[in-house]
Amino acid sequence: MKIYNTLSRSVEEFEPINPPSVGLYSCGPTVYDYQHIGHMRRYVEDDILIRVLKSNSFYVKHVMNITDVGHLTSDADTGEDKMEKGAKRLGMSVWDIAKKFEMQFKDSCLALNVSLPKDLMHATDYIEEEIELIQRLEKKGFTYKTTDGIYFDTSKFSDYFKLSRQNPETLRAGVRVALGKKKNISDFALWKFSPKEEKRQMEWKSPWGIGFPGWHIECSAMSMKALGESLDIHTGGVDHINIHHTNEIAQAEAATGKPFVKYFIHHAFLAVEGQKMSKSLGNTYTVKDVIEKGFDPMALRYLYLQTHYRQEMNFTWEALSGAQNALAKLKADIEFWDEAKVGCAEFEQNFLEAVNNDLNIPEALAVLWEMVRSDYPSSAKKRSVLKFDEVLGLDLGKAKRKEEKIPDEIKKLSEKRGEFRKEGKFDRADKIRAEIEEKGFAVEDSESGPKLRRKS
Ligand code: AMP
Ligand code: ZN
Repeated sequence: MKIYNTLSRSVEEFEPINPPSVGLYSCGPTVYDYQHIGHMRRYVEDDILIRVLKSNSFYVKHVMNITDVGHLTSDADTGEDKMEKGAKRLGMSVWDIAKKFEMQFKDSCLALNVSLPKDLMHATDYIEEEIELIQRLEKKGFTYKTTDGIYFDTSKFSDYFKLSRQNPETLRAGVRVALGKKKNISDFALWKFSPKEEKRQMEWKSPWGIGFPGWHIECSAMSMKALGESLDIHTGGVDHINIHHTNEIAQAEAATGKPFVKYFIHHAFLAVEGQKMSKSLGNTYTVKDVIEKGFDPMALRYLYLQTHYRQEMNFTWEALSGAQNALAKLKADIEFWDEAKVGCAEFEQNFLEAVNNDLNIPEALAVLWEMVRSDYPSSAKKRSVLKFDEVLGLDLGKAKRKEEKIPDEIKKLSEKRGEFRKEGKFDRADKIRAEIEEKGFAVEDSESGPKLRRKS
């Protein structure tokens, strides 16, 4: 199986550190607000990646964090605290908003058939490990103290730009804000002191004083706790390349002296009707909005699958409608197929090649439709489609044949047609088929005899 690795900027053969085990860490949500369909695209893509790994017989240990502690925005050290701000906005405690939005995240995953690890790791449960990691960095001389916290000195870590490939000179020249209390523009907070003038809802004791962890430290601490000091795969949005994942690498590798991650996989963003999602444009739709507009959430999953994970996706309601129709048609076809037997080897091969080529799911869907339209017996197609669905996760196996009420008149016509066919009077049999179709029904000959259904 081949996968694009952001570290090398190329598609590589996937070779985990200890095959067949694969340790995979996904950056999870910050639970200060609703997860929208942009966020959910990422989790569906992670779900697909895991399914593809499993279909290649890898044993996947998937770990995901929940950022339930207030951290600062990507500006890292001067930004606002999203959690504390979110709590104030809703008039709830920080702990309660974390629970509320974690629930909404889990509901969205359930609706989209995204499997989550049984135990999600909450940043607030691992403060001790986060402090320990900062202490390791301190002992090795990678940290310094300012009036507002403990910082990582990026000038001490020579590989700092290996993931982002940014040029430190251009970075420095492009930054207009003052360095503030930091020594270097790329330095970031490991631990922040609670402000004296304002009581925070979430704060902990530490060797440096009462405060709270920086955002990046939780992912390095929790991923290494769960998966060891070197991980096979780490995933996240493309926006994490320059700061969050770059800082995670710095923290982990400076502490352990070992490579932190073998493959970094990053997902592209989702835009809505050609525009960036934003509260002010009112286009930050959630899965609940999709359902309330009368759509099957699985149509959204199908829509996600039509765009490659490294390509920006443009969501439109029209495209969602199209996806819903395609999925309904697929399910209607499958309902009519005979029970699964031997599959269609040629299509299975093509499907596998597509998914193993850097998760080319749009291509895999094209193979699926080619198979659906092929002349293979329906029992073979059924077998293959169920196999494909282990990767796609569209619940196609649940497409159960509905007990349709076929009028007696149509049943009689079908019986008559059957008799003519037995007698070799095919012209007359075909005339009856046309009559059945005119009356709004379709007849299909299967291995177990003719089948009738209302035409869609
Ligand atoms: P936020 O909570 O909005 O800061 O987003 C958290 C993470 O979700 C971001 O860092 C991105 O990786 C991902 N994300 C946010 N918006 C989108 C989007 N429109 N499309 C895809 N991923 C997104
Ligand atoms: Zn993270």
